[in-house]
Amino acid sequence: MDEALTPAAIKSDVERYLDEHARAIALLNDSIFYFGELGMQEFETAGLMTQLLEEAGFVVERGLSGFPTGFCATYGSGAPVLAIHTEYDANPDNSQQPWAVEATPIVMGAPGHCEGHNCNGAVLVAAAIATRRAMGRHGVKGTLKVFGAPAEEQLVSRPYFVRDGHFDDVDLAITPHVGGEFHVGYGVLQSALVSATFHFHGETAHAGVAPWKGRDALDAVVLMDLGIAQYREHMTPEMNCQRVITDGGHQPNVTPRHAAVWWYFRNSTAEGVSALFEQAKKIAQGAALMTNTTLEVELHSAVWPVRGNETLAGLIELEYSRIGAPLWSADENAFAMDLQKRAGVRDEGLRRSVKRNLGPSAQMRSANDAGDVSWKTPMAKLVFPSNVPNISFHHWAAGAALATSIAHKGALAGAKVLACSLIECFTNPAVVEQARQSFARETQDTPYYSLLPADQKPPVHLNEKAMSAWRPAMKAHYLRERPRFS
Ligand SMILES: [Zn+2]
Repeated sequence: MDEALTPAAIKSDVERYLDEHARAIALLNDSIFYFGELGMQEFETAGLMTQLLEEAGFVVERGLSGFPTGFCATYGSGAPVLAIHTEYDANPDNSQQPWAVEATPIVMGAPGHCEGHNCNGAVLVAAAIATRRAMGRHGVKGTLKVFGAPAEEQLVSRPYFVRDGHFDDVDLAITPHVGGEFHVGYGVLQSALVSATFHFHGETAHAGVAPWKGRDALDAVVLMDLGIAQYREHMTPEMNCQRVITDGGHQPNVTPRHAAVWWYFRNSTAEGVSALFEQAKKIAQGAALMTNTTLEVELHSAVWPVRGNETLAGLIELEYSRIGAPLWSADENAFAMDLQKRAGVRDEGLRRSVKRNLGPSAQMRSANDAGDVSWKTPMAKLVFPSNVPNISFHHWAAGAALATSIAHKGALAGAKVLACSLIECFTNPAVVEQARQSFARETQDTPYYSLLPADQKPPVHLNEKAMSAWRPAMKAHYLRERPRFS
């Protein structure tokens, strides 16, 4: 152990270490980008992340809450217990070539990163390793827990982690997330969400010759859709819902015996989203009754809205200002403006600003499975600038910057802010106490309870078939070089 330094000197050391490992951070960012793995299938991604954490001296617990690609890596002991956590999953049909300013899949139809969870994974690991190194060298006391959270896009893993007690001893938590500029909001930031598949069961028949012998499960899916469409008229502005039909039968002359529709229901509160889900179940029961089919509801997950703690937001905002946003090159800025034009959004280029809080943030329609963590312990969502502003996620254009120097610079800056925020919390016990007090005030009227039934199992096989179909073609694009953190 080196001599004890002041917190400011420890932060400078952390920043220097991360600057020296900019190439490793970029390689990790790009490795995860090309893995492009769907939720709960992040085997390459979680494998690489946990190896790097283990090599850096973390003790890694794999298979957290039954998720093969979920993990918790721990370093240190005693108080305070600080947690960082993030997601690293890709989306279906989101394969996009870096630097391309039109829709250009790397593998046509394959999964890919069109949001930037690859950058999230790089920031998490880089900040964890830099913080752990500083703790060891400079006698920083406490416990650092690093959670790998699979399947954010299916809103799955963290409600299970929280239900199973993995955050019970955590004093505060920070989750890094990609965006278009430095920003950390506070208040209720996102929506609550329930994810469930509605299965209808009927009977096959020759649909052309004797359709009256059949009981058509697809009819029930269609009628449920009509029922929800009618109900939309009566939804409050905070509610909305989306669906995909995951099974619509096999061929037109065989009446579908089974049909299934997968819904996401959103509302501003945990209570509200449960009520919307109950209404949807009534509509589905009506559809089953009308079609002489039977209904089976398969719950996948249910999450609380993400909230941000004001104390932590203030602390991170100071680190943003101290460290500063990346310096973008003229080429990077020109690329961003071109991309914004083609995506039909305001073509302002890249930002060097920190988005300031003038008060609590406006609640968004989006959701993130980190929500449950944020009602269990003070939490901040630390947004770092690895993507192009104004472009909406899951659009091809939101994938074009994610394995470029823009993403690399943003991830380096994000890792510095995350690591230095942790150093601040470890070395300044008053901050941890302030966060605890403000969190108690913020949540005093809303006691947390898990929306998941006690015996609910995670849907770990949800993306297994899709990922195994795409993986062979995607493997050809994996990077050959492995990131190294000395
Ligand atoms: Zn995300």
